[in-house]
Amino acid sequence: MQSLTITTLTDSEILELLTTEDTSVVENLHHRARAVTQSVYGDNVFARGLIEISSFCRNNCYYCGLRRDNSIAERYRLTPETIIEACDNGYSLGLRSFVLQGGEDFWFRDQRLAEIVRTIKSNHPDVAVTLSVGEQDKSTYRLWREAGADRYLLRHETADPQLYYHLHPQEMSYDNRLRCLSDLKDLGYQTGCGFMVDAPGCTTEGYLKDIRLIEMLQPAMVGIGPFIPATGTPFGNCTQGSAEMTLRLLSVIRLTCPNVLLPATTALDAILEDGMERGVLAGANVIMPNITPMSERGKYSIYNNKHITGSDAAESLSLTSARLSKIGRKLTLSRGDFVPYGKYFESIN
Ligand code: SAM
Ligand code: SF4
Repeated sequence: MQSLTITTLTDSEILELLTTEDTSVVENLHHRARAVTQSVYGDNVFARGLIEISSFCRNNCYYCGLRRDNSIAERYRLTPETIIEACDNGYSLGLRSFVLQGGEDFWFRDQRLAEIVRTIKSNHPDVAVTLSVGEQDKSTYRLWREAGADRYLLRHETADPQLYYHLHPQEMSYDNRLRCLSDLKDLGYQTGCGFMVDAPGCTTEGYLKDIRLIEMLQPAMVGIGPFIPATGTPFGNCTQGSAEMTLRLLSVIRLTCPNVLLPATTALDAILEDGMERGVLAGANVIMPNITPMSERGKYSIYNNKHITGSDAAESLSLTSARLSKIGRKLTLSRGDFVPYGKYFESIN
């Protein structure tokens, strides 16, 4: 059995890996990241069935197509019955991990979302439920945790407070974002942070701060993907993020946090035909196939040209599985829990 070591990279090493034009150095970076992923998780790439529960949002993040002032955004919210049915359907296909994601929609606050989580967990006690519905009070996070939610995704978006205010209106605050992440960890959620690559104002030095913040937070999951402009937003005419930089960052994160659950994101797959495969080969080990009912699926427009994979959940899973097997990876439908440092992939099979 291979032992696991955290690679300590100095600031200058990280900056060099992110900026070098030497392709052999970049290849080697991806190669090392892949080896680390496999030493922890083997060939498994974990599937999370993604259900986009609402496109309403009270917030106004400058980059996001769902922001409240985007008058051209289509708005919908799934009924609790539809969400529960999507999980039942996913469960019958073998999925044991579900992510309920959406804008910060008051309709889904507190008791209503708690009840949905409770029902999913009582129907299927062996699944993991991840929530990703933004910033909330600690009491709300506690309620949802007590209802059975296992994980929570809340990207920190940037570790640079000044850039945070360039990406968000004054009513949002960097301190509150970090408070949320700290509360989530405190309540025992497997917590995910992350950021967009090449959002307007991002710099390589900024990514270094992101990596250092991630090391400090020790999250169970890190979600990173390229920024993609969204029509109808203040950043709608900005330049799309670089896939190449996203791949380098995935690898650096894998080296610095060997056991982290790291998705090859939909955004990466949207800008690169083989984005999922390239992400996995750079160290990612999670995929989030979209299992939102088809009637609503096209309406969750965070950014332009979002892909729709498969005609339904079953097809979306089988297409994902076929793509992964071509690169020697196995789509694994189990809960796919975070493996704490020092444990190995045998424990999750
Ligand atoms: N509302 C929740 C939140 O903000 O955490 C969850 C949904 S939000 C759409 C999920 C993530 O989408 C955000 O954390 C952000 O990083 C990403 N995102 C938003 N707009 C994007 C864009 N234009 N390009 C790429 N990613 C984007
Ligand atoms: Fe709302 Fe999340 Fe989009 Fe911000 S990123 S506008 S919180 S959905």
